[in-house]
Amino acid sequence: MQQIGHWIDGKRVAGTSGRTADVYNPATGEVQAQVALASKAEMDAAVASAAKAQKAWGAMNPQRRARVMMELVRLLNRDMDKLAEAISREHGKTFPDAKGDVQRGLEVIEFCIGAPHLLKGEFTDSAGPGIDMYSMRQPLGVVAGITPFNFPAMIPLWKMGPALASGNAMILKPSERDPSCPMMLAELCQEAGLPDGVLQVINGDKEAVDAILDNDTIQAVGFVGSTPIAQYIYSRATANGKRSQCFGGAKNHMIIMPDADMDQAADALVGAGYGAAGERCMAISVAVPVGEETADRLIEKLVPRIEALKVGPYTAGNDVDFGPVVTAAAKANILRLVESGVAQGAELVVDGRDFSLQGYENGFFVGAHLFDRVTPDMDIYKTEIFGPVLSTVRAASYEEAIGLAMDHEYGNGTAIFTRDGDAARDFANRINIGMVGINVPIPVPLAYHTFGGWKRSGFGDLNQHGPDAFRFYTRTKTVTARWPSGIKEGAAFNFKAME
Ligand code: NAD
Repeated sequence: MQQIGHWIDGKRVAGTSGRTADVYNPATGEVQAQVALASKAEMDAAVASAAKAQKAWGAMNPQRRARVMMELVRLLNRDMDKLAEAISREHGKTFPDAKGDVQRGLEVIEFCIGAPHLLKGEFTDSAGPGIDMYSMRQPLGVVAGITPFNFPAMIPLWKMGPALASGNAMILKPSERDPSCPMMLAELCQEAGLPDGVLQVINGDKEAVDAILDNDTIQAVGFVGSTPIAQYIYSRATANGKRSQCFGGAKNHMIIMPDADMDQAADALVGAGYGAAGERCMAISVAVPVGEETADRLIEKLVPRIEALKVGPYTAGNDVDFGPVVTAAAKANILRLVESGVAQGAELVVDGRDFSLQGYENGFFVGAHLFDRVTPDMDIYKTEIFGPVLSTVRAASYEEAIGLAMDHEYGNGTAIFTRDGDAARDFANRINIGMVGINVPIPVPLAYHTFGGWKRSGFGDLNQHGPDAFRFYTRTKTVTARWPSGIKEGAAFNFKAME
């Protein structure tokens, strides 16, 4: 059985805690590796070593650090297929989708090549007589990133890039469900020229996370995962005096106005609802058609598209639309929620409950489901299902539709499909959600903008990637300087007379 340890001081090392977790191949249901779960002592030792390595890295000319990012981009492109294969094998997503996972992380590393410009600071000449004032952006020291299973390349790269380019050392604690890709990323960082110890990948579970939260050397914690854990980490990290940004779960609504292009809306919904088996924080999980007639037309367009979806293992390459979900527990939870939807009176228009794939009966595959006539009191509406299940809530008016999205506890992403610029503009202005699509179903901002949800989808006040990430991973120091004059008076040849 393959054993996955940690990446410490530039080497793969075995865990010493004696605790491990199974890593599955979700397509077959087999255990394919065991990953070490770090103890507090292992974490504390890795942090102490990172703190030593950070000193020289943080003092380095930012352009040299940017060159490491530049080389990392080349290496990520070189190894794209290898990384994607490692992701698909442990996560289950299709091979093209796994390449997208690497690509969207790589774009943030590209952005980090601009670190010298982003770190330049501010300067006021002659703030007073003979006085200059300048603000510097300095690294925090050792920072930590704690990441979820669903993007094992993208989110670790979103954390590592800005943190390292700003001159910090980073402790990355990836998801224990798919640890191989983050370990490979650490190897690529070393090959790109990152000094040993500046990036430590420590695998683990709650014990490792708590060791991060309680470690006095760690100055900041960036987290992505489910909302209860995001809130827990934010509370404990900030109570311990750390800077923290924690991104949580989602329930993303897409509003379909009567004037929308219904084929375009149906195509968008199928991709955004079922891509990656719904295991995306930006997946659309609620369709809100406005008006009964719009709803009827939408359902009519959706059903054949959903029934035609191909579900299968990543080894089928481009021939599958989505793969299995990550664990047997995730599958059981999705099917339990589907049953609750039926029991609470929603109409199951496409029923994937009996889905089974020949030759992969033990895999964690879940068929596509479509619910109609869902109401806000139902569990399938209130809960993040994180599976291939789309719920339709029929709204009588635009105001009712926008009200639904605004009243939901989550505020990660949303979209409106319409040909009416006035409605789209009103929606974008009023909605209390962090990322908005107008005729775009998954509005993930590009690397040079920032990514972050509102309400219970995000805790903390700065977003991920873009300029906010550089603000999060640096602190500002402002210097006021006055130099005595005198040197300009020239040489003195006589002792001064008593004055
Ligand atoms: P998760 O919350 O179970 O795990 C995330 C991380 O927290 C992992 O590293 C895990 O080891 C750790 N963790 C789990 N339980 C813990 C505990 N009790 N104490 C301390 N640490 C713990 O999330 P997941 O299942 O890996 O990922 C899916 C979730 O992430 C979904 O809710 C999804 O919406 C969310 N997500 C959000 C974003 C975003 O940007 N908002 C992006 C991707 C995923």
